Amino acid sequence: MGPILSEEEPSPVLFVDVDGVISLFDFDPNDAPPGRFHLVDGLHHYIAGSAGEHLGRLAEAFELVWATGWEHRANEHLPSLLALPGRELPTLSFDERPVWGTAHWKVSAVDRYARGRPAAWIDDSLDESCEAWAERRSEPTLLVPTESAVGITEEQVGGLLEWAARLRSDEARFAERMSGEVEQIEPP
Ligand SMILES: [Mg+2]
Repeated sequence: MGPILSEEEPSPVLFVDVDGVISLFDFDPNDAPPGRFHLVDGLHHYIAGSAGEHLGRLAEAFELVWATGWEHRANEHLPSLLALPGRELPTLSFDERPVWGTAHWKVSAVDRYARGRPAAWIDDSLDESCEAWAERRSEPTLLVPTESAVGITEEQVGGLLEWAARLRSDEARFAERMSGEVEQIEPP
């Protein structure tokens, strides 16, 4: 039997953008969201207050992967800023040069990493090329757009966890059906 029946079925991937998801910008300084500025490589980044807790919960259902122009620098700074205990995440590196405010340059690297696995992608710059990629894929795929001034929300975390749970139960049902232990209901 194919690997789909295996207990070892890999968890879905969640590609995590940083700017506009974890590090916020373009918000009204008089009405700043919860969080605070941190100096990273000489630049001030406003890290959302709940981002660490959100990622911690998501890590229980997904393999988290940095998908950000920060590339390897994400691991140098964010695990400690976000209190992700000792956790260095896999990091995409890109063939194309990053273009601020867009995400098309991430698609080929995202596609390579996600091949054969369910995948979700949270980013503030998802565009038509990302949507076209999601539609092309045969594996379950979920795009989660954020607003740069707000970043990842509690609601989005809930939606992602539900999506992952649904995948697991679909898989379990499929495995049960294939094992032949479930009686077939005959059509009337
Ligand atoms: Mg971004």
